[in-house]
Amino acid sequence: MSKRTIWKRMSSLALVLAVLFALVGTDTAPLVETASAVTQGDIDALKDDADALADEKSAIKSRLSELRNEKANMLERRVLLDQQIAVTEKEIANTENQIAGYQALLTQTALELEENQKEEEERYELFCERTRVMEENGTASYWAVLFNAEDFSDLLSRLADIQEVMDYDQSVLDNLREIRAEIEAKQAYQEELKTEAEAAKATLEATKADLSAQREEANALVAELESNVAEYSEQLAAVEEEEEAIQKEIVEKTNQLAAQMGWNATVGGYIWPVTTSRRITSPYGNRNTGIPGASTNHKGVDIGGVYYSSNVLATKAGIVITSAYSSSYGNYVVVSHGKGNTTLYAHMSSRSVSEGDVVDQGDVLGITGSTGISSGPHLHYEITENGSRVNPLDYLPGYIQAW
Ligand SMILES: [Zn+2]
Repeated sequence: MSKRTIWKRMSSLALVLAVLFALVGTDTAPLVETASAVTQGDIDALKDDADALADEKSAIKSRLSELRNEKANMLERRVLLDQQIAVTEKEIANTENQIAGYQALLTQTALELEENQKEEEERYELFCERTRVMEENGTASYWAVLFNAEDFSDLLSRLADIQEVMDYDQSVLDNLREIRAEIEAKQAYQEELKTEAEAAKATLEATKADLSAQREEANALVAELESNVAEYSEQLAAVEEEEEAIQKEIVEKTNQLAAQMGWNATVGGYIWPVTTSRRITSPYGNRNTGIPGASTNHKGVDIGGVYYSSNVLATKAGIVITSAYSSSYGNYVVVSHGKGNTTLYAHMSSRSVSEGDVVDQGDVLGITGSTGISSGPHLHYEITENGSRVNPLDYLPGYIQAW
């Protein structure tokens, strides 16, 4: 074999190399770049929040156990139970966010893996292609090239050329190894994510069970209060007092606001505060609880069949004058519609408006629930016109009598 043919062979190799280098690239940038919407850091932050919630919860729990069997502290216990429920609801939201995070990370990792595997396949293909070209050119073996050297100096020059080829082969192999390692690391991470997502799902189920138990306990406590009116008369009187104080404040606030704005109310014009139920479980006015001497004056109506999940709607446009928690009304919102005209929504699980918010008719104020003096999920709804409570049933067309 003449030196010329060898050189020709090496040149054809060089050509293949040039093509390969161009295709493979030699930079050390990450093999796959993806814009990540969610990071492990986001999930870690959620876990920190969850730890803080757990601390908050254990503080409430220990106070609750101190109060166990103390009848004089029924109202305080009720408030603590509501706080515990609120923390548990936050825990549920947190775990749901963690699960969503894991799912997003799993999706991202799967996409990255797919890209890595495609790249590995392509590079491997090129490597095989190169080997095939070498075989066709009769240069499959470096030894064959060296063995055919004419003299020592020819051998040295052949060695130099071969070194270059070998270095390239080495870099291709390194590259393939690198991508393989990345694939394996990602597969391990994927397994880890799956395990953590499963654990979070188990936590979610357990926390949901906790929530039901806590709601039952809170409802049972109020049921006990309501069925032992004589025994708890002091505490029930405190509840009524609080409600009266709230009403007084509402009328003052709304009149002040109306005066500031030169805002005169037009009476009526309300829609239903929920769209999920028309069942009235307790009407406006005097109601007999079935227990002698326990009839109370109901200042609004109770709408049942709303569970812990119905949107509570502003029944008329206005301005939120109160969004707060009280031991009697639980989470409640008051909307002012002008001088002496307000609507009140009580016992909600959560509130989604703040004092000063301007609301349109039909805007969501919160979610129904059973906070405060409530023995089961319902919406307590009041209307005040000209500074006094009126019967909301007059404004609830198509209601179903369920009392
Ligand atoms: Zn009520």
